[in-house]
Amino acid sequence: MGDTRTAIVTGSTSGIGLGVARALAARGCNVVLNSYTDTADDRALADEIAAEHGVATAYVPADMADPARCRALVETAAERFGSVDILVNNAGIQHVAPVEEFPVAKWDAVIAINLSSAFHTVAAAVPHMKRAGWGRIVNIASAHGLRASPYKAAYVAAKHGVLGLTKTVALELAEERVTCNAICPGYVLTPLVEAQIPDQMKAHGMDRDTVVREVMLARQPSREFATVEQIGGLVVFLCSDDAAQITGTSLSVDGGWTAM
Ligand code: NAD
Repeated sequence: MGDTRTAIVTGSTSGIGLGVARALAARGCNVVLNSYTDTADDRALADEIAAEHGVATAYVPADMADPARCRALVETAAERFGSVDILVNNAGIQHVAPVEEFPVAKWDAVIAINLSSAFHTVAAAVPHMKRAGWGRIVNIASAHGLRASPYKAAYVAAKHGVLGLTKTVALELAEERVTCNAICPGYVLTPLVEAQIPDQMKAHGMDRDTVVREVMLARQPSREFATVEQIGGLVVFLCSDDAAQITGTSLSVDGGWTAM
């Protein structure tokens, strides 16, 4: 990846964000980890990644539902490391309900954390990237940025919005050596998804393999989960010089889901 880069990964204390943070650290990036909590475990995680990969890390708590905290996260990273070269917008939440019963507060939270946070972090990071003459923005969207499912109105709207934001930012920065792309994962085996398996086994009276294949991965033709390592690997590629002409697009990691 060349020079030592500084990367911010939002929502990186678990799942995909943590996998992306580890993958970038393994390639020599300094990494700023983030979540809305502020615990000793959060800071220990950043220290562990620094020690494992011989890079500098920081844990910066910031609630991605709060526009001012989104922007402050970027400025804190810039102050601490001198630049913001890579921004991975990953923080996200889900809420499932029929549209007529969808709680307004949940709609607002899903849109704020999954979509508006990316607008705020991008707006704050772009001046730093322009000044440096290099930058990579990767937004973790979803197969639900390309396809809908019932009862996920806010999530599907937010993820479709992320793809629109990605294209617009890419066009605005096309001559600045700053790229902006989205990754659209299908089902990824994160702790959140793993925790749903026992309940699904009970509800359907199936063993683990059957419930995963027939229920959870019913829309994923490969019938296999994507992994956080695979998403991390794609982020690393998008941050490489080989990906310099890839901008304004979305890359699916969904076992064929959106080919249907
Ligand atoms: P996860 O719940 O394991 O991790 C989400 C992370 O975001 C956590 O670190 C959490 O602390 C953080 N977070 C939540 N709310 C936050 C807030 N208000 N401010 C700051 N941080 C916050 O989830 P995951 O499965 O790893 O999902 C990560 C991203 O990938 C999300 O945007 C999600 O929509 C997307 N995604 C996940 C899957 C999947 O199957 N797991 C599929 C497609 C897309």
